[in-house]
Amino acid sequence: MTNEEMTPETKIPVDLLIHNAMVLTLNDSDDIFHPGGVAIRDDEILWVGAENPWPAHLEPREQLDMAGGLIMPGLINAHTHAAMTCFRGLADDLPLSVWLNEHIFPAEKKISRELVYQGTLLACAEMILGGTTTFCDMYLFEDQVARAAHEAGMRALVGEVLYDFPSPNYGPPEQGLAFTRDLIREWENDPLVSVAVEPHAVYTCSPELLHACNEIAEQFQVPMIIHLSESQDEVDQVKELYGTSPVMHLEKLGLLTSHLIADHCVVLNEEEMDLLAERGVRVVHNPESNMKLASGVAPAVELLARGVPVALGTDGCASNNNLDMLAEMDTAAKLHKVHRLDPTVMGAKTVAHLAVRGGARVLGLESKVGSLEPGKKADLIGLDLERPHLTPLYNMYSHLVYAVSAADVTLTIANGRMLMRNRELFTLDIGQIMAEVRTIAKRIKQ
Ligand SMILES: [Zn+2]
Repeated sequence: MTNEEMTPETKIPVDLLIHNAMVLTLNDSDDIFHPGGVAIRDDEILWVGAENPWPAHLEPREQLDMAGGLIMPGLINAHTHAAMTCFRGLADDLPLSVWLNEHIFPAEKKISRELVYQGTLLACAEMILGGTTTFCDMYLFEDQVARAAHEAGMRALVGEVLYDFPSPNYGPPEQGLAFTRDLIREWENDPLVSVAVEPHAVYTCSPELLHACNEIAEQFQVPMIIHLSESQDEVDQVKELYGTSPVMHLEKLGLLTSHLIADHCVVLNEEEMDLLAERGVRVVHNPESNMKLASGVAPAVELLARGVPVALGTDGCASNNNLDMLAEMDTAAKLHKVHRLDPTVMGAKTVAHLAVRGGARVLGLESKVGSLEPGKKADLIGLDLERPHLTPLYNMYSHLVYAVSAADVTLTIANGRMLMRNRELFTLDIGQIMAEVRTIAKRIKQ
């Protein structure tokens, strides 16, 4: 059902009508309706528009008056390692290789099913409270991430991390491929959770493993996701191993494809940026993680100028140290300005699009989410604008990127289901989850 198909004579039952809000659609024409509303039936958006009042043919079963509030599409965290909430603040202020090899990899040797499950539940709670409705994950025991996302009611693209060494989950590398295939089949028909193939990086995965991953991606028509060119260290290491850069290495292997999602892409030359654009590779930009690990500034402005689809991600909680997409948006906007000494780049509207539409496009979910339009899935959030730090209001994009904080989010709906209202979580027992993660943290510390 679209707006056009509705005539005043047709009475249309609606599960939930959210009204009296400012509605930021992020659709192709960037429509803002104020006052506006959104009607939801089942898992879908049925109507979005200006109201004064709302169309008479809508028969809402339930109404939600969002006076003084904003309604917009749910944020999309396109790259994270959700369970790393368990390692939040464990090791900071170290170079990437030291941080990874001496702190994170050893801590990860202790990880278990339970840690990943509880850590992901905590991540989901944090994301729902911060207005994120979709996340893309790479980690171990990813079956537990899928389980946690499913219980939380979030949309998620998940994938087991694959590399050349044995994993505490599946054992030898060959079994990781089988694990991935099984996981894809298990969630094939789920409305919210889907599975990708996720080799860790080119310096941890042999060409043979990368080819095997790509075969699975092609066989099941799912994305392949990899950390790519995250730091100069990585580039040097790959040059030593293969005599070429990470991007050119993938190009030589024939693995730069339109189903490849490349996380980070910090160190790129002009030729590599052109190549990513030409091959249709999609990129996830993680500014806070890149800043904290001093990896550098990803050329997101240059990639966007070349038409490369770019999304925003927080990366894992050990390198950020939160999953706050609104903070990530603020950082993304400011980082590129100071880096180029040019306040006109990465404007607020561009950044708002990256965090929502960019995420949907990069994750291959554009037909389902990323804007408020009839026919799309009802993934949306509400924010309270009646706050001192949001007064006065001239430009919603400006506030969204530069002034709003996660605590202003008062409503989170994913796939038509209300996950949070007035800071109360409906799918997760946050007290119990925090207690479990504190117990896990005691074991990690030992
Ligand atoms: Zn990462």
